[in-house]
Amino acid sequence: MDANDIREIFFKLPKADVHNHLHLGGSQQKFIDRYPEANLNFPKSYNGLTGMIDFIYGHLNTIMVTGKDVVNFMEIAIESAIEDNVTLLEASVDLNLARFFNNSIDQVIDVTRSLKEKYKSQIEFKPDLGVNKDLEIEKVYSNGVKCIESGVFNAVDLYGQEVGKDLNPFVRFYDMAKDLGLKTKVHIGEFSNYESIDYSIKLFNPDELQHGIRAVDSEATMDLIAKNNIRLNICPTSNVLLGAVSDLKEHPLRQLFDHGIKLTINTDDLILFDATVTNEFEKLAAANVFSFEELDTIRKNAF
Ligand SMILES: [Zn+2]
Repeated sequence: MDANDIREIFFKLPKADVHNHLHLGGSQQKFIDRYPEANLNFPKSYNGLTGMIDFIYGHLNTIMVTGKDVVNFMEIAIESAIEDNVTLLEASVDLNLARFFNNSIDQVIDVTRSLKEKYKSQIEFKPDLGVNKDLEIEKVYSNGVKCIESGVFNAVDLYGQEVGKDLNPFVRFYDMAKDLGLKTKVHIGEFSNYESIDYSIKLFNPDELQHGIRAVDSEATMDLIAKNNIRLNICPTSNVLLGAVSDLKEHPLRQLFDHGIKLTINTDDLILFDATVTNEFEKLAAANVFSFEELDTIRKNAF
């Protein structure tokens, strides 16, 4: 079975995308269709996280300027997932998007609830609450708590700068989210070392890690992840285009899988990295990283 066969089979199969930043989750084509006048050149790769952030702030954010634009960006993300036969989408709605809605967190919650409702016959959209580590901690506890108490969100997810950040201020927020029955995800170990992964697990005991790929550098960290049954939601193309991994053949996901760690394959930011969930499976097959059966196990892990 070659990569083309894999693409055709996996395209038709129900898939999940559980590491997706919703307002960056639309395909480039759908973006162009929605904003034909935008005249945006998408980079083929990024100079690390800084290069990606420069592109977002210097280019995308000149187009996403109103609350209506935010809704447009989110809709094209959900529609892109539907088009790829993604049946379960766990995607994060950034807490700081309130700035596009007159700083009203209630509007963000309402918009998220409406999107779930609008697309419910086509996809199970489970929004995660995305929290940037650089957000003022007061906002996490005022606006964030409103979100997790709203019943609209499926999980909390923490992201942003991976190195040199004190994560203790977020622990109580994570405990509150758990008490309210939400799942917990943490971005760590994409660029940061395995010790940062150990530290995050100790602090949060999360259900899932977003990336977590540097666990590969420590047997003990991999053991800890496997023992605690923490799922790694990995985005291979994102890792390559941001330079965290040199190419797919060198990607740690094979070793993590062989260590008995449960992993999933996801898009991260489709508008930036231009690879759907189906494309990710196809690329891993083309690089001979996994067999068909192994890829199918990974597909099912996400449900
Ligand atoms: Zn991410």
